[in-house]
Amino acid sequence: MSKKYDVIIIGAGPAGLFAGLSINGKKFKTLIIEKKQTPGKKLLLSGGGQCNFTNSSEIREFNVRYNNKNFVTPSLRSFSNNDLIDFLDKKCFKSLIRDDGKVFPESARASDLADLFVRLNIENGVDIISGTDVKSVSRDEECFNITTSGTSYNSRYLIIATGGKSYPQTGSDGTGFKLAEMLGHSITVLKPSLAPVFIKNHKLMELSGISFNNAKIDLYRNNTKTGSFTGELLITHKGFSGPAILNNSRYMENLDLLKISFTGKNFEETDQILQAGRNNSGKQSVKKFLQILNIPERLILFILNTLEISPGAQVSQLSREQRISLARYLSEYPSIINMVGDFSSAMATSGGVLTSEINKKTMESRICPGLYFAGEVLDIDGDTGGYNIQWAISSGRLAAMSISGTG
Ligand SMILES: Cc1cc2nc3c(=O)[nH]c(=O)nc-3n(C[C@H](O)[C@H](O)[C@H](O)COP(=O)(O)OP(=O)(O)OC[C@H]3O[C@@H](n4cnc5c(N)ncnc54)[C@H](O)[C@@H]3O)c2cc1C
Repeated sequence: MSKKYDVIIIGAGPAGLFAGLSINGKKFKTLIIEKKQTPGKKLLLSGGGQCNFTNSSEIREFNVRYNNKNFVTPSLRSFSNNDLIDFLDKKCFKSLIRDDGKVFPESARASDLADLFVRLNIENGVDIISGTDVKSVSRDEECFNITTSGTSYNSRYLIIATGGKSYPQTGSDGTGFKLAEMLGHSITVLKPSLAPVFIKNHKLMELSGISFNNAKIDLYRNNTKTGSFTGELLITHKGFSGPAILNNSRYMENLDLLKISFTGKNFEETDQILQAGRNNSGKQSVKKFLQILNIPERLILFILNTLEISPGAQVSQLSREQRISLARYLSEYPSIINMVGDFSSAMATSGGVLTSEINKKTMESRICPGLYFAGEVLDIDGDTGGYNIQWAISSGRLAAMSISGTG
């Protein structure tokens, strides 16, 4: 015999948990089914375990941070970043807004947010079953039939909030797309998004951990420039990461060439600074002089060592060739991409349930009445900076409010 619910939510990530805590729990008997033993596994990893759950930028500026700005607008307007911060504040959960706009729990613990979401679900009367994988879904005239390995359930409404397919060990391994297909939905091409890049013969390995606030990256494919990006760049053991790479990894392919300016300036500008230094600060050591470029000393020493320039040499002693090589290294450092991170290292999935099949004002399927979607399972992916979790929460809430407003 099937267990009966009014609403079943598949997936206890931020989208599913926020849908559960937002639903009218008095009116709708609701169940969340989660594959992993612990709800919100990806949430717990997010922001390096600190959870950058939203961004403080104006909500009207959010739209451009996603692949499909028209689709996300109603969800984000109905529950914005400020609404979320206020909501948490009312639950005595303090947020910390960083200078760069990223918003974290004041405690810097993702687990505090996950625990709060679970507690609010329980207080709302929502049942949560963890460690249970939904294997199949179908719909007959009366209800949805949901089957796990041991049990069947049925419900009047179903919310699929199963996430994407990156970091599959967190539970969002792409099986949710199959569930959507079982109910007639189409899935777009799936690609890793927000991925680091791994570099061929990575020479900067020993500098891993260093980041640059205003780096500029020019992207080349077959000797043609195909993109130019600016922002924070992080050197890693195997290549590069940081927002400037992650937010643009969707445009990058294996064997593309990156030309990196650590200073954000192009070759001519960098060379002019070095030439001016020769004229105005000729007696200064090269190492000291380069500090005006605002780059970490470790990089300066590394470059000088690589170019066989003594750090103590005076700026005026630099030969023309040395000056030019230095300017090139600083402004056009070449790196060939060996591999753009795959789903095991990408933070998000580009692609998902085709959004034209969903009503963006309610999150209800246009194909299967009573079926709703929320979060990363949809063909929505955002930049780093808190945009993905905000999307999951706003869309989860909109789905729940839409159901709560029905019979
Ligand atoms: C390392 C890392 C760091 C990140 N940091 C940030 C950050 O700081 N800020 C930010 O905004 N975004 C961040 N993201 C992205 C963000 O975590 C996701 O976009 C967000 O969690 C998506 O929420 P969701 O609820 O849609 O899906 P998920 O969080 O993926 O949750 C989906 C849930 O559904 C469950 N599930 C899947 N299939 C089934 C099934 N068949 N049966 C039952 N349950 C199922 C899964 O186990 C999972 O718990 C990060 C991602 C990663 C990988």
